[in-house]
Amino acid sequence: MTKVNGLMMKAEEIDDEGNWEQDGRKMSLLGAHLPVPSGIRYEMDPDRQEVIMTVKAKDFLDECPDSNCGSKDVGDGVILVTPWAKLFPAKCCDQMIWMVDERGEMNEQYA
Ligand SMILES: [Zn+2]
Repeated sequence: MTKVNGLMMKAEEIDDEGNWEQDGRKMSLLGAHLPVPSGIRYEMDPDRQEVIMTVKAKDFLDECPDSNCGSKDVGDGVILVTPWAKLFPAKCCDQMIWMVDERGEMNEQYA
């Protein structure tokens, strides 16, 4: 699990349905192409990835993935899912937390 700060979007601007609210405007992030920080994605994955699904954070996370936060209450937030990564806008610590699944032969590196 990795987090990357400094995206233009702030966690607090993303509502529980996966809409991005900014300056009074609201835009669904479903179908949006998000820039995925190079530090967290695999080299062969695209740097902009389409959000194909939104899921409830609660269904996937028991606690905040950020080890400095570790809040047991992830609230009613959302996780934005792309084919290669997941983005959790963590309101508990106001961070955009990217998660990438371990895969195939890469497993050993992360075991
Ligand atoms: Zn947190």
